Amino acid sequence: MEAGDSMRTDTDARGRLDWLLRMPPEIERAFERDFGSARIRHLRHAIIVGLIVYNIYNLTSLYLMADIQPFTVAMRLFVLVPGSLAIFYLVPRVPPALREVLLLAGMFVASLLPLYLLYVSASPYASYTLGELPLVLLFGNMLLVLRFRFALLFTGVTCLAALWVIHHKADLDPNLVFPLTVQVITGLFFTLYGNWHFERQRCLSYVAQYDAQNRADRAERLGDELRDLTRTDALTGIPNRRHLDEVLTAWPGQHDDLLLLMVDVDHFKAYNDRLGHVAGDEALRRIAATLTTFAARHDGFAARYGGEEFTLLFAADMKTGGAFLADRLVRSVRELAIPHPARLDGLSTITVSVGYAGAAQGDMRDARDLVTRADLALYEAKSAGRNRSKAG
Ligand code: GH3
Ligand code: MG
Ligand code: MG
Repeated sequence: MEAGDSMRTDTDARGRLDWLLRMPPEIERAFERDFGSARIRHLRHAIIVGLIVYNIYNLTSLYLMADIQPFTVAMRLFVLVPGSLAIFYLVPRVPPALREVLLLAGMFVASLLPLYLLYVSASPYASYTLGELPLVLLFGNMLLVLRFRFALLFTGVTCLAALWVIHHKADLDPNLVFPLTVQVITGLFFTLYGNWHFERQRCLSYVAQYDAQNRADRAERLGDELRDLTRTDALTGIPNRRHLDEVLTAWPGQHDDLLLLMVDVDHFKAYNDRLGHVAGDEALRRIAATLTTFAARHDGFAARYGGEEFTLLFAADMKTGGAFLADRLVRSVRELAIPHPARLDGLSTITVSVGYAGAAQGDMRDARDLVTRADLALYEAKSAGRNRSKAG
């Protein structure tokens, strides 16, 4: 990728995130498909690590909140641990949006519970437990990596609650109020900033990757369409000469028996001269459609060779299938009963002449040779009165 391309990709990606770093819904879904299970694994891992560390604070509260120590232990063991284990269980089992909300709810409990304990504790050392708060935020914002909008809510609410406790707690040394306020705000802000950075990186790089993949898919689709177009005859919509050449090259190596039919519309110049080229075109379309259906019914392939000539190819044995298929084909065009008012041979509808040739395994299997032989046979069919088939 050129430097200019990557700059453009980055700018494009940035324009597709809102200020809460939300990706468009279809990209969000694609992200979940690609990385959902990796996130679930990461979350379950982090929840267990967080639980262990969080319970270590049971020991710190032994010193810092001795007055309510049994209560703090009970709250951790009977509220937080079961809650976390429930989230651990639910994370892989709920839809992604709910999963993220559950994490937010769990983090609210993890940050608001110690603030409540701090508020109710009368211990002179209780305010030291505030040092644990940024660690809880660090866990939610940078280890779990809450989605940025949830991290914002989580950090904001925790910050307000902490400030409220600092300013309303009875007996808190007034000299601590300002420093604690600053420490809490800066500590929380850092983790939120970290979360924004992580999340922005994640979303930008995924959106850029998603767009690049889309562009590549579109280019491939366009390439396929173009390739189909170059192999399709513009007038009749059936495979053209180029496609026929590909099939003539591929089939000899893929099939034991080959049968090739050259089809030419009889007295078509007279038809055009009498009814005009527009009517001629329409007749060619109808004949092409009939030949295509005929080929499909017998697992064959039909193409417009050029002008009013068509080629059909079958993986069939010349002896058993040749005359059968060629005669049926002559009949199926005749049964279209397209009026041909300019014929001088007694017939009054469009007909075709067919020359066919085959090659079995072990024969000289050059497709060009098959065409030449079928062509000669076609010439014979014409000479013999048209509206018939001849073997080459
Ligand atoms: P024969 O029975 O011997 O095949 O006689 P013919 O008139 O069919 O053969 P000839 O080769 O003299 O003329 C073929 C005609 O097919 C000439 C041309 O006007 C017409 N033709 C070829 N391609 C097209 C096409 O795309 N559209 C139309 N309307 N006519 C076409
Ligand atoms: Mg011709
Ligand atoms: Mg003709």
